[in-house]
Amino acid sequence: MKKISIAIDGHSSTGKSTLARQLAKSLGYVYIDSGAMYRAVALFALENGLIGETLDEAGLLEHLQALELGFEVNPKTGRSEIHLNGENVEQQIRSIAVSRFVSEVAALPEVREKLVKLQQEMGAEKGVVMDGRDIGTVVLPEAELKLFMTAAPEKRAARRYKELLDRGESVTYQEVLRNVRHRDYLDSNREVSPLKQAADAIRLDNSDMGLKEQYERVRSFADRILNAKK
Ligand code: C5P
Repeated sequence: MKKISIAIDGHSSTGKSTLARQLAKSLGYVYIDSGAMYRAVALFALENGLIGETLDEAGLLEHLQALELGFEVNPKTGRSEIHLNGENVEQQIRSIAVSRFVSEVAALPEVREKLVKLQQEMGAEKGVVMDGRDIGTVVLPEAELKLFMTAAPEKRAARRYKELLDRGESVTYQEVLRNVRHRDYLDSNREVSPLKQAADAIRLDNSDMGLKEQYERVRSFADRILNAKK
């Protein structure tokens, strides 16, 4: 059967990666979490003293070209996880400290240029599900199925808050809600490839939609495209 590319974009904490993983698993496709790559660059900046009160842009750009980023399957989890300079940083990139600065890092044109190139190389073969903010508009504009996911900020913050508590982070719901809103604002208003719905993307508001219903709906979109290609 022919393979397609699936691009999933949308606001922060809308469950893009959960849906992308479900689709990749059921279709036997590769899943690429583009946000993990931006998070890894932000983690590098944090760990190397390039983030204090503000982000040291010049300092980060000096190191950017030498940064090695890639995904490897973790034999323990069976999941593809992000590696930064040879080290698995899948857990560290999910902290609230990284979330606080990642959108500023992701707004730097040089960072986007490097990561978009890598993402396009990873997505060059069909049979990929990639999620992020600019996948359908910039990274994989030829993707056969494009989704744009959104939900009410309060619902998204509540889901993310629960996730962070489960991981043992000490945060407040208000802090998480502020972070969700702040990232939406920065992601939608930056100059280079801002978050926006591609003209040919299907909008999915999952404020009141369960995971199963969402997956079945999207899988049916994919099946329709795949059947037409047979
Ligand atoms: O998807 P996730 O929330 O982990 O992404 C972290 C951040 O990385 C986003 O808030 C956004 O600023 C940035 N990002 C981006 N373009 C992408 C993926 C993520 O700018 N394709």
